[in-house]
Amino acid sequence: MEVMDVHSWSQPERIRVRHLELNLDVRFDRKILEGSVTLRFDATTEPELVLDTRDLEIHSVENAAGFELGARDAILGAPLRIQLAQGCSWVRVRYSTSPDASGLQWLDPAQTAGKRYPFLYTQSQAIHARSWIPLQDTPGVRVTFQGRVRAPAGLHAVMAAERAGEHFRMQRPVPSYLIALAAGALEFKPLGERCGVFAEAELIDTAAREFADTEAMVRAVEGMYGPYRWGRYDLLVLPPSFPFGGMENPCLTFATPTILAGDKSLVSLVAHELAHSWSGNLVTNATWSDFWLNEGFTVYLERRILEKVYGQDREEMEAVLGRRELDREMAGLPEPDRVLHLELTGRDPDDGCTLVPYEKGALLLRTIEREVGRDRFDAFLRSYFDHFAFQSITTADFLDYLRRELPVTTALDEWIYRPGVPLDAAEPRSDAFQRIEAAAARWQQGQAIDTSGWSTQLWLHFLRTLDTPDQARLDREFHLTDATNSEILHQWLLMAVRSGYEPAFPRMEEFLKTVGRRKFLKPLYTELMKTPAGKERARRIYQSARAGYHPIAQTTIDALVGGA
Ligand SMILES: [Zn+2]
Repeated sequence: MEVMDVHSWSQPERIRVRHLELNLDVRFDRKILEGSVTLRFDATTEPELVLDTRDLEIHSVENAAGFELGARDAILGAPLRIQLAQGCSWVRVRYSTSPDASGLQWLDPAQTAGKRYPFLYTQSQAIHARSWIPLQDTPGVRVTFQGRVRAPAGLHAVMAAERAGEHFRMQRPVPSYLIALAAGALEFKPLGERCGVFAEAELIDTAAREFADTEAMVRAVEGMYGPYRWGRYDLLVLPPSFPFGGMENPCLTFATPTILAGDKSLVSLVAHELAHSWSGNLVTNATWSDFWLNEGFTVYLERRILEKVYGQDREEMEAVLGRRELDREMAGLPEPDRVLHLELTGRDPDDGCTLVPYEKGALLLRTIEREVGRDRFDAFLRSYFDHFAFQSITTADFLDYLRRELPVTTALDEWIYRPGVPLDAAEPRSDAFQRIEAAAARWQQGQAIDTSGWSTQLWLHFLRTLDTPDQARLDREFHLTDATNSEILHQWLLMAVRSGYEPAFPRMEEFLKTVGRRKFLKPLYTELMKTPAGKERARRIYQSARAGYHPIAQTTIDALVGGA
């Protein structure tokens, strides 16, 4: 059965593109990519191939009878209609991107760690690949590709693919949102046989230390869910404006530098992006309404990796933190956004990117695991990844397979199609957190507490447990305004906004002007916008910070604070 993706103009049921050949120049001087893409498909009698584009300048189309760029839709961009001759099996589009392309961020040297060279990276998920390649931009279509990317002398271009100099090759079919490119003053350091890290020279050693357990994580997932099928697994550390924690581009995860904590306490992000090599990249959501299939499975796998590599305590803490954050975020969401299978017609799929597909999705899998037992559930997951390998599937496909292979009594329809968390949820618990709650109570009564050796997770739970704390006292005792761990600092700054703790405000301003990770920006700006004084502060900060944010983060914060 053909799946309708409301976020693409292309009609893959008529013609399905199977292979791309990209040939691009990275033009930092004009902030554009320029070159061509050749799209190959089975010889067809269809009169027309429709591609997705957004803000592209189309110079010519080879091997076509003509082409026409349609009207631009605010969410979808413009369809590129290419007239085909009988029996046609390829076309080549020459084009250049716009300096404002939604999927590209062009950074000035000042926005990088080294401050000497510019930096470019792509972010194609959800529907931004069309802003730098004209293609069928739907996760229901998978392509293999080759790429040739020329960057200015001294800069290093990488694609999420097999690499040989400026040539790249992806032999396993991937959805368009996983096509990725970056260019900058990058260095490489190996982390093991299959793993390594790219980063600017200033960060490469720190990053290699932080990610030292990556190979062990790959082996941990392989032990549970079958072989890693993508060859190498490398990481690329981006500048701090990257709007996400990480992006699971195949063979080469893109990651925010805000997880470089110095103590591996934030590497759950690496576990998460690696897990996508199975859930997401191997078995892919067919439409953005099925996004929870990517993210819920991945959070579940992420926690299993953490348990294997760092122990049960760590897994329990992360699961409880995630569960609490889900409740907190869900409380502010309209009912239709509290369901797993989202209705996104007429909406930007980036709107669906809340914690619901992540944490509620993972909680559903945890609940099924509790019902059938871990061994049976692991066997099911392994067969699921094999059965649907390199395919894009819908929620209905998953449900059919589950009901056939592993009948359960868990109320699946309620979990997937109704708002909120059902009462039968397998709620996570953490003994370590119970001890922290006791410590928080003692501290509230004025006693001194010993926080030596506390992990990031313990600190987060401590701060979130304190009810209207005396922030000046916390700062005197624990120097939290000077925290260098991004998660702890973010939690501290949120509390400072809520309680109006002025001494932390200069640090908050600096944080908002250097970090572009949407997970941090959105709660801080939201909290600021709740009071008249906060509103004024938010607008003033955003006015100077906005230019440094990625277009995706700009869209989110524009909606909260108002555009520039
Ligand atoms: Zn993810």
